[in-house]
Amino acid sequence: RRRRRLATTRGPGRTADGHPVALYGNIGSAEDVDGELEGVGLFRTELLYLHRTDPPGRDEQVAAYAEVFAALPGRRVIVRTLDAGADKPLPFLAAGEEPNPALGVRGLRLARRRADVLHLQLEAIAQAARDTAAEVWVMAPMVATVAEAAWFVAACRDAGLPTAGAMVEVPAAALRARSLLSVVDFLSIGTNDLSQYTFAADRQCGDLADLLDPAQPALLELISGCAAAGMAAGKPVGVCGEAAADPRIAPVLVGLGVTSLSMAPRAVPEVREALAAHTLADCRQLAAEALSAAGTAPLTVP
Ligand code: PEP
Ligand code: MG
Repeated sequence: RRRRRLATTRGPGRTADGHPVALYGNIGSAEDVDGELEGVGLFRTELLYLHRTDPPGRDEQVAAYAEVFAALPGRRVIVRTLDAGADKPLPFLAAGEEPNPALGVRGLRLARRRADVLHLQLEAIAQAARDTAAEVWVMAPMVATVAEAAWFVAACRDAGLPTAGAMVEVPAAALRARSLLSVVDFLSIGTNDLSQYTFAADRQCGDLADLLDPAQPALLELISGCAAAGMAAGKPVGVCGEAAADPRIAPVLVGLGVTSLSMAPRAVPEVREALAAHTLADCRQLAAEALSAAGTAPLTVP
């Protein structure tokens, strides 16, 4: 018992029978980096842009990215380009008054309208990446169509960033995972937003927690389709939303075929334990059961 604990408190993620599943951290700055991390699956870059009236300049950005990369030599760092709008409003990038900001000009939609801001960010990431031993990948938030993803990938390649992916946060993107993978190098499923948009349930509305539960079979079915498309294309498909941090759901996600799980660094040990307690066959069995569940029971109205 003691030995198993020791064996699972560090090191790469794997199932009881040795199937590797990368366990990455979600970070917002170098302060969040834990030296034990296998890598970073989601570097949220919004922090750099918050509480200011102008976008950060090139040098400031290069320094912030370089600090994170330097803390993770030899490891993968997936940088998400600016995800402004909706629950992450930025005064200098306001899309104007919107009746439904979550359904408005946010994420990559805003980046397409303010390509100057995106291009500067990609150039700064590329510059920081040139002088580092980290393996730097980039991905776009709130991708809805293959054309949007292709536009982003072209911008990344132009900036000298060879590995570019799309977040799957919108059901339309999940439904088109196979086509998306013909233009991007990897997918990363953001279950916080994917739940919100799949269930038409505001992610900030605590009263709808039952619909936002990552065990919901409709969410798992979308993830399953993405993972299957990834396996067919031979490209990585990870999960970087809160679902990945849930030790009850992590084995299910592995059973569906996702190749990495990215979460708050403090959640990694428990998820590593959960995977080490199941074989890949167990995970597949749990996934099949979860997919055939009925979802939330009806509410009893008093
Ligand atoms: C997500 O939507 O699941 C996600 C990881 O991105 P964020 O929580 O930053 O919107
Ligand atoms: Mg999101």
